[in-house]
Parts: sequence; structure tokens; C-alpha cells
Amino acid sequence: MARAAGFGSSKSTKPCPCLSGGSYEICCEPLHRGEQQAATAEQLMRSRYSAFAFAEVDYLIATHSASETPMARHRKELHESCHEMRWLKLKIMAVQAGGVDDLEGTVAFEATYQAGGQRSVMKELSLFQRRDRDCKGDWLYIKAL
Ligand SMILES: [Zn+2]
Repeated sequence: MARAAGFGSSKSTKPCPCLSGGSYEICCEPLHRGEQQAATAEQLMRSRYSAFAFAEVDYLIATHSASETPMARHRKELHESCHEMRWLKLKIMAVQAGGVDDLEGTVAFEATYQAGGQRSVMKELSLFQRRDRDCKGDWLYIKAL
């Protein structure tokens, strides 16, 4: 696709925040736009990390199993968290199941972020399941284990 001069500085052509090595437009952007579904739990994990980095709050809500927090508050909290934290680096430590033929999987990761001038590392083991536990269901983030 031809791009107008100056468009190269848009976030689409920059390396994807999930550090897959690809540009955002061929990595996590199609998922955030709803043009593509995560094929694996790891792909969903990466796309959710990128969504935090780019404040794609709708995507974060759509890929999380129903939260107990009322929606308006949940949305506000996500917005605040996206603006307070600058995500710097994602490192996938271990992946268990969560493949194209699985209904469930876990991803262990370390995510480096900066908040209030302080750099910290968040470590989490996340549980992912396919929607309705159906082999054609899209992947959802369930919770931290
Ligand atoms: Zn990505």
C-alpha cells in the first residue's frame, strides 16, 4: 500500500510494542482493529500488552472475560492505567498449551514499565481460555494465577 509522505512516522510502521520484531501494522494492529483474531494464547497476550501500550481500551475490554467491576468504572480504570504507565518491554518467559488446538493455556511474562519516574517489572502468570470453551471461540484473558 502506498503511503503519503510523512505517514511513516505513524505508529503503524513502528516496531510493535510487543517486540515480536514486526511492525505494529502487521503484528498487533489487525487484532486491535478486529480484522484478525489471536490464534494462540501467546498472541492474545502480546496483543493485550500492545493494547496497554497504545491505550486500546476497547480491545482490552473485549478480550477480558466479564469483569466483576461495573463497566464504566472498569473502562475508567483501564484508561487511567494506560496513561499512568508507560510500557517499555515485554518478555515471554513460558507458554503452556494455548495453541491453535487448545481450549486453555497459560503464559508467564515479565513486562517492564515506567510510572511516576520509577521503572518496575510486572511478573504474571496469566490464564487464557477460548470463549465458551469452544474450539472456534476467540481467546480471552481470564485472570492472573
Ligand atoms: Zn505485536
